[in-house]
Amino acid sequence: MTIKGSCVCGGVRFELFEPPAMMGACHCSRCRKAGSAAYVYVRAEAFHWLAGRSLLTRYRPRPPFRFTRTFCRRCGTAFGDPETGRVVAVAASCLDDDPGVRATFHEYAPDEAAWSPGCEDAPFLRNEKGGGP
Ligand SMILES: [Zn+2]
Ligand SMILES: [Zn+2]
Repeated sequence: MTIKGSCVCGGVRFELFEPPAMMGACHCSRCRKAGSAAYVYVRAEAFHWLAGRSLLTRYRPRPPFRFTRTFCRRCGTAFGDPETGRVVAVAASCLDDDPGVRATFHEYAPDEAAWSPGCEDAPFLRNEKGGGP
C-alpha cells in the first residue's frame, strides 16, 4: 500500500511506501507561516519523489533552527522536510491519501495563534467536496 502526495499545481508528486509511524502537530509560528503544521513521520527509505524534483526549492534556516523547508517553487506548497534524517517529516497537508495515523502529540502549543483554536462553532460555507479557491 502506498500513500500519495502532491502539490497544488500538480507538478510535484511523491509517495510513501509504508504507512507513517506517527503524526504530530506543530503550533510554532514558523510552521504556521510556512503553511504546514501537521507532519507525518516516515522512514527516509519509504519516501520517494515521483515527479517534479526540478520544481523543488529549499529554505535552510540559520541555527538554532534546523528544519529545512521544502516547497514547490511554482505553487508554494510546503512539503515539510522530507529529505533530512533517518526519519523524515512530511507535511500532512500535501497528502492525497489518508495516512492512517492521527496526531498523537502537539509541539510549541504556547506559540499557537490567538485565532487558531475556537473556530469550531463557525458555520460551514460552500460545504461541497472538491471545491476551494
Ligand atoms: Zn506545485
Ligand atoms: Zn513548527
